[in-house]
Amino acid sequence: MKNLSNYIGGKLVSSAAGGWLEDFEPATGQAYARIPDSHKTDIDNAVAAAQHAFPGWSATPAAERGKWLHKLAALVERDLENLARAESLDSGKPIALARSLDIPRAVANLRFFAAAASQFASESHAMESGAINYTLRSPLGVVGCISPWNLPLYLFTWKIAPALAAGNCVVAKPSEITPMTAFLFSELCIEAGLPAGVLNVVHGLGPKAGTALVEHADVKAISFTGGTNTGTDIASRAAPKFKKLSLELGGKNPTIVFADCDFEPSVSESVRAAFSNQGEICLCGSRILVERSLYTRFRDAFVARVQALRQGDPLDGRTEQGALVSEPHLQKVLGYIELAKKEGGTILCGGRRAQLDGRCANGWFMEPTVIENLPPGCRTNQEEIFGPVVTLIPFDTEEQAIGYANGTPYGLAASLWSENTSRCHRVAAKLEAGLIWVNCWMLRDLRVPMGGVKQSGSGREGGWEALRFFTEARNVCIKYA
Ligand code: NDP
Repeated sequence: MKNLSNYIGGKLVSSAAGGWLEDFEPATGQAYARIPDSHKTDIDNAVAAAQHAFPGWSATPAAERGKWLHKLAALVERDLENLARAESLDSGKPIALARSLDIPRAVANLRFFAAAASQFASESHAMESGAINYTLRSPLGVVGCISPWNLPLYLFTWKIAPALAAGNCVVAKPSEITPMTAFLFSELCIEAGLPAGVLNVVHGLGPKAGTALVEHADVKAISFTGGTNTGTDIASRAAPKFKKLSLELGGKNPTIVFADCDFEPSVSESVRAAFSNQGEICLCGSRILVERSLYTRFRDAFVARVQALRQGDPLDGRTEQGALVSEPHLQKVLGYIELAKKEGGTILCGGRRAQLDGRCANGWFMEPTVIENLPPGCRTNQEEIFGPVVTLIPFDTEEQAIGYANGTPYGLAASLWSENTSRCHRVAAKLEAGLIWVNCWMLRDLRVPMGGVKQSGSGREGGWEALRFFTEARNVCIKYA
């Protein structure tokens, strides 16, 4: 059993109290590593190390900070295969997805913000009365980055890269459920020679280590991605201390298919949007709204594609559906199947725990599931399931589709499918979502603002938005006339 360490002040260390938590492999259901069960003391040590490093790091020219990020990106790229295997083992995701999405995106995050560091500029505003304003943007100091289990290294780097690029020092708390690649990344930081304390990684439980980080008086901002309930808890603790907060939370995203869509890509991309990473992506489209005249044809083609998805050992390069991340999560998703049945839903395919052979016999697998005949307002269609479960809902008019799409407490993402350009613009403008894809899904440009409305969060990540979040703006007004 491998013991992982915290990374504090440039060194790999155990938790101060010496406790451990088990790390499981979802495909087998077996514990295979241990992580430090960190407490407030470990967070205090990490914040102290970050504070110590801050004067030097914030004074380092942006282009130099960028070079450090480029160096880390090169090491992640060198270790792509090793990191993809580790991510797949730790989270249950297909290794093909880790190879093609998670790890390359971690590299891209580091490179993007390495370049952005030297391109970031601030505004100036001239006044007709004879004065000029300019904006100074300085790093905040020590910031906290808390990331979830579904895209572990991808979302970890999505937060730490802009924070470091902007000149902050970071204490990061990855999900205790998928700690492995953040640990391997801390080893790469040591190999790169990153100055001690610039980045610190503390493993452990959210309510213990996470809360200590959120409440620490010297942590100036919290960038959090995770569930809406956790986001509420974090906001209630951080707001009274006037910390900057970026909250990327849950979703219940609609995929809207109009009868005038290009049929083939709309079916295949709707399947990808629904079942990528077993539906464990915040951007997955889990409510598929289909115009009634196309409904039967779309449903039959969609279900046939879902039934053809190859489920198997996540470490097999041909696998398309891996394991769910944990036993409690699997039970939660299965609980929603029972709820859907009680609510009158018809299961078109899936609906059960999947039983695999060999080394995966005790793994946490679930059949990809499609349900119909549920009203838009029922709990199954309102609550985030975050698993391989989607519902199909027919609609009659554009207005009804928009009403259904907007009719949940969430507002993270939406995708819509139509060959009518006017309709695409009209509907996109009315959707209550932070990200709207037209005739595509999860086509990501790292420069665009990323985040949700309503209970899907507040604040935006990506591009300049991230660098603005991780800096404090101060206005200087000079009168010259
Ligand atoms: P959680 O909210 O359970 O956890 C996210 C992170 O917060 C973990 O590191 C967790 O640690 C930590 N945490 C838990 N409780 C606290 C606390 N009280 N104080 C501080 N930190 C805490 O989310 P999941 O990991 O279950 O991730 C799934 C959720 O993330 C889904 O709802 C999904 O929609 C959302 N998500 C949103 C995205 C977006 O961009 N909007 C992107 C990806 C996911 P630990 O694991 O130890 O509990």
